[in-house]
Amino acid sequence: MKISLVIPLYNEQELIGELVQRSVAALKGITDDFEILFVDDGSRDLTLRRLLEYRSVEPRIKVLELSKNFGHQAAFTAGLSLAKGEFVAMMDGDLQDPPERIPEMFGMLQSGDYDVIYAKRTNRVDFSSRNLQALLFHKSFTRMSGLSDMDKTGNFSMMNRAALSALLQFSETTRYMPGLRSYIGYRQGFILYNRDDRLRGKSKMKWSKLLGLSSDAIFSFSKLPIRICLYLGLTGIIVFFIAGIYTLIAKIAGFAIIGWSSTLLSIYFLGSIQLTFLGVLGEYIYRIYKEIQRRPLYLVRKFNE
Ligand code: UDP
Ligand code: MG
Repeated sequence: MKISLVIPLYNEQELIGELVQRSVAALKGITDDFEILFVDDGSRDLTLRRLLEYRSVEPRIKVLELSKNFGHQAAFTAGLSLAKGEFVAMMDGDLQDPPERIPEMFGMLQSGDYDVIYAKRTNRVDFSSRNLQALLFHKSFTRMSGLSDMDKTGNFSMMNRAALSALLQFSETTRYMPGLRSYIGYRQGFILYNRDDRLRGKSKMKWSKLLGLSSDAIFSFSKLPIRICLYLGLTGIIVFFIAGIYTLIAKIAGFAIIGWSSTLLSIYFLGSIQLTFLGVLGEYIYRIYKEIQRRPLYLVRKFNE
C-alpha cells in the first residue's frame, strides 16, 4: 500500500459525499494504490451508513467503527495505528483541510528530504470568539511547550512510515497529536495553506471539549503551570520576610499599631496562593491518575477493511 489517508468523523452526514469525492480524486492523482481510512467516532446520525454505502462502490474506502465517541485525538490515533500505507496523511473531515494539497505534501516526502510535512495556515485572524480562543491557545501553547512552529498548525499533515512508527510509540492517554507530531523530530517541512471554513454542519468541538484539549496540550507539554506556583510561592516568602522584619522593628521601636488591614491582606494573599497551588497540583494528579489507569484510548466495534 502506497498511501493511507486517515479522517475522523463525528456526525458529519451532510458532507460525506463531497469529502469522499474530493479525497478520492486527490489521491487518484498520485497513485491508484491508496486507502482512505474513515474513523467513525461514535456518530449518531447517518455518517456510518453513508460511509458504508460509499465503501460498497469504492473498495479503497475503509471504515473503522469505534464503540462510542472517544474524541478526535483518539479517533486519529485509532486510524493511524491501522493505516497500512508507506506514507500516511491525516486531516479533519469537515473539508477545512483541502485534500487537494496532499499531492504536494507527498511530492515533498518523496523527494527524500523530509519525513514529515505539516500544513501551516496563512489565514488572517478574524475576531470571532471561536477563533480568538484558538489563537490564544496556539500562541500560549507555542510559548509554553518549547516546541517550534506550533503557532498555525493543526492535524493536517503527512508522514512516512518511519515517522509514523515513532509517533505510534507514544502511549500516553492525554494526547495532543500536533504536539506529539512536532515532538518526534525527524526532518519536518511544511506547506502553506488557507484554511477554509467548515463546509457544512456545525463544529463538533464544543467550547468545553476545546478547553479540555487545550489544557491537555499545555499540561502534557509544559512545566510552566507548576513553575508559576513555585515562583508565586517564592515571591510570597520574600514578601513575608520583609513584612516580618518590619513587624519586628515596629514592635521593638514601639510603634506597632493594631492593624487589621495587614492581617486581612496576608490571609487573602496566602489563601489564594495556596488555592492556586492546589488547583494546579490537582490538574497534574488528575492526569497522572488517568495515565495510571491505562485505559484503552479507543475501542473498535468493527473494522470494515
Ligand atoms: N471529530 C471527531 N470526534 C469528536 C469531535 C470531532 O471525530 O469528538 C471530527 C470531526 O468530525 C471533524 C474533525 O474531528 O472531522 C474536526 O472537528 P471539528 O471540525 O468539529 O473541529 P474544529 O475544526 O471546529 O476545531
Ligand atoms: Mg473543523
